[in-house]
Amino acid sequence: GSRPRVNAILQPNFKFSDTGIGGLDEQFSTIFRRAFASRIFPPADIEKLNIQHVKGLLLYGPPGTGKTLIARQIGKMLNSVEPKIVNGPEMLSKYVGSSEENIRNLFKDAEAEYKEKGDESQLHIIIFDELDAVFKQRGSRGDGTGVGDNVVNQLLAKMDGVEQLNNILVIGMTNRRDLIDSALLRPGRFEVQLEIPLPDEHGRKQIFTIHTAKMAKEKMLGPDVSLEELASKTKNFTGAEIQGLIRSAVSFALDSHVKTDSDKIKVDNTDIKVTRVHFMRALDE
Ligand code: ATP
Repeated sequence: GSRPRVNAILQPNFKFSDTGIGGLDEQFSTIFRRAFASRIFPPADIEKLNIQHVKGLLLYGPPGTGKTLIARQIGKMLNSVEPKIVNGPEMLSKYVGSSEENIRNLFKDAEAEYKEKGDESQLHIIIFDELDAVFKQRGSRGDGTGVGDNVVNQLLAKMDGVEQLNNILVIGMTNRRDLIDSALLRPGRFEVQLEIPLPDEHGRKQIFTIHTAKMAKEKMLGPDVSLEELASKTKNFTGAEIQGLIRSAVSFALDSHVKTDSDKIKVDNTDIKVTRVHFMRALDE
């Protein structure tokens, strides 16, 4: 178009350390450099280089490792409207035809804005969880509907179709990358793929730190609790499981303040502290 194009704006106050994501600094910076770098250069430069922005990013790895957290933070880092979050099974509507409509609706706001402004200054992020639920159905018309195929085709049409939208980014997530049709991984589609792995010991310590920060600040974390020790004892835990462990340690701590005497329940809330014993009990569980 003849209208001037404006580049996406990087939020000046964004700091990775404020995101509440532990142990994924490297992945975050890889995503940024491979999927967004082109968006923060002046559009004229990108036009001269004759390349398209990345429109699809695939995050894969075990459940509960922070894929959704990362996807949401990407929206905060760039000038973006609130990301739309959908999941595969939800998109596979029982009613033939409406699955495609579900997909089209996802892109409506981005399309309208692109038509009006003709630039990509504001990014529209679509987070597509459980992508494999839709994409493994491709080609399998066993149920006689082919709904999965239609959804896939509609999504691809929106991502790399004739009407190019430069203001969208689709972030697909899956626990089963092996189930994703290779046609989806081509340039213009989910071309940047990144594994979000289980956290290592250092990452686990960061996750413990993040999720106990508030109780530590309120002096409710016992001085005998060593986050290093917890990190070393939680090999193969996901971030979600670490959060679950903390939650059960807290419930043991609370439990020691509850007394049942005869047929009454009493709570004594003086000096609640989550101590090493509570964490060890939670680990034993
Ligand atoms: P799924 O594949 O099941 O959707 P996911 O990888 O998207 O999982 P999240 O939903 O991002 O996982 O993580 C679940 C919760 O676990 C988060 O809301 C957060 O509280 C905690 N969590 C997971 N990973 C991390 C992490 N790296 N740092 C901090 N918290 C984490």
